[in-house]
Amino acid sequence: MPVTSPAAPTPAAVPPASDARPGDRAALLRQDPEIAGVLLAEQDRQATALQLIAAENFTSPAVLAALASPLADKYAEGYPGARHHGGCEHADAAERIAIRRATALFGAEHANVQSHSGSSAVLAAYAALLLPGDTVLAMGLPYGGHLTHGAPGNFSGRWFDFVGYGVDPKSGLIDYERLRALARARRPKAIVCGSISYPRHPDYALFREIADEAGAYLIVDAAHPMGLIAGGAAPSPVPYADVVCATTHKVLRGPRGGMILCGGALAERIDRAVFPFTQGGAQMNAVAAKAVAFGEAATPAYALYAHQVVAHARVLAAGLEAEGFEVTTGGTDTHVIVADPAPLGVDGRTARARLAAAGIVLDTCALPHADSRGIRLGTAAVTTQGMDDGDMATIAALFGAAVRGPGDPAAVAAEVRELALRHPPRPG
Ligand SMILES: *Cc1c(COP(=O)(O)O)cnc(C)c1O
Repeated sequence: MPVTSPAAPTPAAVPPASDARPGDRAALLRQDPEIAGVLLAEQDRQATALQLIAAENFTSPAVLAALASPLADKYAEGYPGARHHGGCEHADAAERIAIRRATALFGAEHANVQSHSGSSAVLAAYAALLLPGDTVLAMGLPYGGHLTHGAPGNFSGRWFDFVGYGVDPKSGLIDYERLRALARARRPKAIVCGSISYPRHPDYALFREIADEAGAYLIVDAAHPMGLIAGGAAPSPVPYADVVCATTHKVLRGPRGGMILCGGALAERIDRAVFPFTQGGAQMNAVAAKAVAFGEAATPAYALYAHQVVAHARVLAAGLEAEGFEVTTGGTDTHVIVADPAPLGVDGRTARARLAAAGIVLDTCALPHADSRGIRLGTAAVTTQGMDDGDMATIAALFGAAVRGPGDPAAVAAEVRELALRHPPRPG
């Protein structure tokens, strides 16, 4: 008789791998009730509150299925047909499909779909085009630049000489004359166009003109609008930019991750900047899930979705203005709304806290015209949930009630919960 260790797990506690199907929740619940409980609580939080964080969305069951697939276990350093590992035939197929769909969807000559995140994609773009110490022009952080656009605590601020351009404090629009003057004076190696909170379309042709005048590369960090671009609801930077970086998980509604588009001439430099320069093996389950999301984004249903996201943001922005919020730039062309709650007598942090107490989840952000912070929100997730114009008007009224008071906070929270529950993130 073999001696068994007293600590040996029982078969019931740890089922053999073959017993658990990909994404099998029952298996997780059985094996690890502690973490399963956390996941169920998060599922409940998502379903019972209003998710208005501008960078968030709800992926489809198909995208989630690809994420929870056996490709999660596969090492595939390198690129299709040139891997450092064996057994990559199916990983190769997944990546080739993702690349084919991405280039077709965005009309780009080349796509790299391996970046682990939007930040990794930006890092790779810089690695491909710049050397440490190079001067780069990007939207200043106080105006909505991303951390990767020169924040002191980020690699970008440490390794490059970032110069910030901004927006006009009154109009909230990009100050192109200042951008042009900075480009002339500083002769940057690259100009970055992109923001975490700009609610309007950048003038990509003008960015190109200014970059050409300075002899600079144009890098468009389209993390936010990439889904709108895919659905034809926002202009495409692809014809103008040397490199387009993006996330796949915002309006685009794919898995958490990044992507890079460029012309054929830069393809090899971009690929080498992703692997082996800044990353090891790609997450092939995420690559497969990106392929699924690109497939979804190529459908007429997604184009309709993208246009609805913008229409909803416009209705919501108008509703917030009617409630007394001051909406920057006077509205939006995208899914993003930035608003100053000062006319209601509170700052952005207080507004966010009162909204959170009512079950309305969003961020604070810098305001172009004031030292205090405002609120930033987006309509990508609520539109995925199937909410309509009437629901946007309801949400605006709930904002007013939650932030202004002095109504009954519990009544507002109950109404928010009821609205969310009527629109589940995922059917079934
Ligand atoms: C979201 C975002 C990123 C980074 O994405 P992560 O996946 O969080 O790293 C980069 N740039 C811009 C403009 C973004 O909005």
